Amino acid sequence: MTTPRFWREIEQRYRGIGVQCENCSRVYFPPREICPHCRRKSFGRMKEKELSGKGKILTYTKVHEPHPEYKMLTPYIMAIIEMEENVRLTGHLVDIDYEDVKPGMEVEVTMRRLGEESPKGIIYYGYKLVPVK
Ligand SMILES: [Zn+2]
Repeated sequence: MTTPRFWREIEQRYRGIGVQCENCSRVYFPPREICPHCRRKSFGRMKEKELSGKGKILTYTKVHEPHPEYKMLTPYIMAIIEMEENVRLTGHLVDIDYEDVKPGMEVEVTMRRLGEESPKGIIYYGYKLVPVK
């Protein structure tokens, strides 16, 4: 299995790198290889697009069940945000108490280590949503 090039330098570059479909101009984050909107017409035509990494909370929820893959303290907060580029993203909201979260709150997408090691022994990194102070 080959690794898409946008994942290789993930730690240095992940924040704010999405992809844009060259056919329909829709932007996606996290990056994906095929545009789900027009996959037949534009297969393989995704280019990297730098995003602001900023967005606003649309909705959020408190999750009490442990995450199936990552060791995260429960409960934790999952939020759906809309980024400045009109990309919606679901992510783990950190550095804030549930009672203090409000719709419309500004957040930033940042790279964090995702808990401990995965079952396969690989340390996972991924994005987290952090409130803008
Ligand atoms: Zn497309």
